[in-house]
Amino acid sequence: MEARGLRKSYGPVQALRGVDFTVFEGEVFALLGPNGAGKTTTVEILEGYRTRDGGEVRVLGLDPARGGRALRRRIGIVLQATGLEPYLTVAETLDYYRAAYPVPRPVEEVLELAGLGDLRDTRVGRLSGGQLRRLDVAVALVGDPELLFLDEPTTGFDPEARRGAWEVIRSLAGLGKTVLLTTHYLDEAQALADRVAVLAEGRVVAEGPPEAIGGRREAATVVRFRLPPEAPPLPAGLAPEAQATGGLVELRTEDPTRLLHDLTGWALEHGVALEALEVSRPSLEDVYLELTRQAQDPPSGDARDPAGDRGGREGR
Ligand code: ATP
Repeated sequence: MEARGLRKSYGPVQALRGVDFTVFEGEVFALLGPNGAGKTTTVEILEGYRTRDGGEVRVLGLDPARGGRALRRRIGIVLQATGLEPYLTVAETLDYYRAAYPVPRPVEEVLELAGLGDLRDTRVGRLSGGQLRRLDVAVALVGDPELLFLDEPTTGFDPEARRGAWEVIRSLAGLGKTVLLTTHYLDEAQALADRVAVLAEGRVVAEGPPEAIGGRREAATVVRFRLPPEAPPLPAGLAPEAQATGGLVELRTEDPTRLLHDLTGWALEHGVALEALEVSRPSLEDVYLELTRQAQDPPSGDARDPAGDRGGREGR
């Protein structure tokens, strides 16, 4: 799936201002971005349910604006809200949707995949929110799609239901399906996505694996600890990097192995216990917040993306 220079306006609102990204076959790809960034518009264009004003789009080798039924039969879509018939059972619902596809998957297989085996005879109206969402996914799987769109698949779930949905998504990836999901949960993107794109203000500001996006892989490691009041001062080699506030010391380093060796070596030598010792890298959330903040409030002068794994942002 590929988007190049994708543009869309609603009257005076420029929702997409040149969106570029690529989703490779068999990967789980997450589209992230604040409210109004253009995620839903992008996804609807890829699904063939919204027209674009400009740019190139390819989905399974076809232009979704002209793909028609041939394309729709090869994709599965899970919207944020669906209207399933409350009086049908789970199995009856799946059976009903099977009629729409030339080569549907057997109901039992879909029930198993979506983790709904125990609920096959339960009426839809009696399902919990999380169970209903799983049924939405199951309905999208009935046509055995090659590509699945999941719009905020776990919004409103309790932690256990989220883990359950993650398992379902992982099993889809295990079957070689390509999955495009939108989410506001960065831990979800971190846990599921092979790659993510961050949309902000109608543009992709970064694209790459969650562990590397926004320069995360190269970013400084932060080492924090509390120095007891009776401890001797930190050695000169460490102290210039240190920021101490009320006994809490923070060191930043590009070479954490060496720093930790020097620090803990010094601490052991002087019998100092480094309380609450913590080594951390910027989280996906830290990087995401920084990227979207920069997009909303670009620095003056050089506005190049400091992070973009593939040059991300284009001429602004
Ligand atoms: P959210 O996270 O809130 O779902 P989003 O990233 O999906 O947001 P979009 O729904 O694509 O964002 O909206 C992008 C912009 O386009 C927003 O400014 C929105 O107000 C506007 N917009 C979306 N749909 C329409 C529409 N049908 N008519 C007019 N403006 C629209």
